Amino acid sequence: MHGNRRRRSAIAVFTAVIATLGAALAFTFSSSPSHAQNCNGYVGLTFDDGPNPSTTASLLNALQSSGLRATVFNTGQNVASNPGLAQSQLDAGMWIANHSWSHPDMTQLSRQEMAQEIADTQQAIEQATGVTPDLFRPPYGSTNATLRDVESQYGLTEVLWDVDSEDWNGASTQQIVQAARQLQAGDVILMHDNYQSTIDAIPQIASDLQSRGLCSGRISPATGRAVAPDDDPGQPTTQAPTDTQSPTEPPPTTEPPGGDCSAVIEVVNDWGSGWQANVSVTGPTDGWTLSWNWPGSQGISSSWNAQISESGSSVTASDVGWNGGIASGQTQQVFGFIGSGPATEPTVTCNSN
Ligand SMILES: [Zn+2]
Repeated sequence: MHGNRRRRSAIAVFTAVIATLGAALAFTFSSSPSHAQNCNGYVGLTFDDGPNPSTTASLLNALQSSGLRATVFNTGQNVASNPGLAQSQLDAGMWIANHSWSHPDMTQLSRQEMAQEIADTQQAIEQATGVTPDLFRPPYGSTNATLRDVESQYGLTEVLWDVDSEDWNGASTQQIVQAARQLQAGDVILMHDNYQSTIDAIPQIASDLQSRGLCSGRISPATGRAVAPDDDPGQPTTQAPTDTQSPTEPPPTTEPPGGDCSAVIEVVNDWGSGWQANVSVTGPTDGWTLSWNWPGSQGISSSWNAQISESGSSVTASDVGWNGGIASGQTQQVFGFIGSGPATEPTVTCNSN
């Protein structure tokens, strides 16, 4: 009892610090050049193969100075070696995604080996940053149906690219800048964490994008296309990009009476014989238990990152430890499942442990 109270007051102080940091970050973003302008469309800047001790800090500096945000496709082994740099990526406003553990040609692996590469990397990123990626890019863009099936089991959307900067192929800074000029709204460009030529191209890329009314956005897990950075994984990702920056707008949630957590289920894919849903929880919470009732003949045929029990039409899902704590006011996508029966987004009751 006493221990629990002490823990809660420590969390209250901690969440106040987080809230202050969050306000500072929000100010940074809103005052940066790309957010002060009207955005006619969004592009997805991506940087693969980080984080690296020799380059990641300079890359993040260049991006922040230019008011740009990007998606970083990290390898699990680099995250495990440099967890502080992965946290720096998050703190700098980047979105963190999965690029395998050891950077193999995934199509040469068995299904089990594919799953290991993906799962180990999800775990390394979760441990370093508390974030569960929902995007995966196969090394070399090398993919097949088996890999895509494994990706979907982990709730991951495969993201390749529309424009290749060729920085990996020795492109000069000017050639990288030229490549970025091909970007149209919604497009994604491939760049890397570990080339000085790429870092040197950032200020000019930012200036070119701004002159064309394009802003840097996140990549939607629903479509794999660049959309407005809403900082809100619980928000439906199928909506059209908007010009309004609303990073603090909460998702539609159901607050339990007197509870201190809320959750939302979002159907992200429906292929007729089944459907995939992702579940987001908004803190504060010391671990959580969710419950809901199916309105009809729905069920869960598989799930990841949660312990689930079903009894008749009622479902209970609880966290599996690593994603137990979510900072005050933050929303985190915590698990997903494959549903049977008609796709539905039931109202969820969330209880803190
Ligand atoms: Zn790579």
